[in-house]
Amino acid sequence: MSHDPHCIFCKIVAGQIPSRKVYEDEDIFAFHDIAPWAPVHFLLIPKLHIPSMAQLAPEHERLMGKMMVLAPKLALEQGCKPYPEGGFRVLANTGLEGGQEVHHLHVHVMGGPRPWLKG
Ligand code: AMP
Repeated sequence: MSHDPHCIFCKIVAGQIPSRKVYEDEDIFAFHDIAPWAPVHFLLIPKLHIPSMAQLAPEHERLMGKMMVLAPKLALEQGCKPYPEGGFRVLANTGLEGGQEVHHLHVHVMGGPRPWLKG
């Protein structure tokens, strides 16, 4: 399924639920987390509905590589200071025991001055 009409993040990609957009291209959407843990906290998601990292297959290598290469660029644009003094955290909760609440693959990118609310 490339799009799940019941998925909150598919609805964000489609513009049916508002979000504070950070980035968009043909494959990827990024938006600020609604409940940030850190001064910078946004989510990077594929537009394709992939429930979690557990469903990744070889055909997703290019897409996931693109997301990982985008993360540092967007982190800096959003106000994270450069490595090594600054930096950021990348997190992909996967499954219930992995702490995943929204079942559309997403990568949290968090950064900015500490302390953070969590983590
Ligand atoms: P996870 O626990 O990894 O599934 O995280 C899901 C994240 O999505 C949480 O950090 C939520 O705050 C965030 N979230 C849920 N709904 C929205 C929304 N409508 N807009 C932005 N972020 C959201």
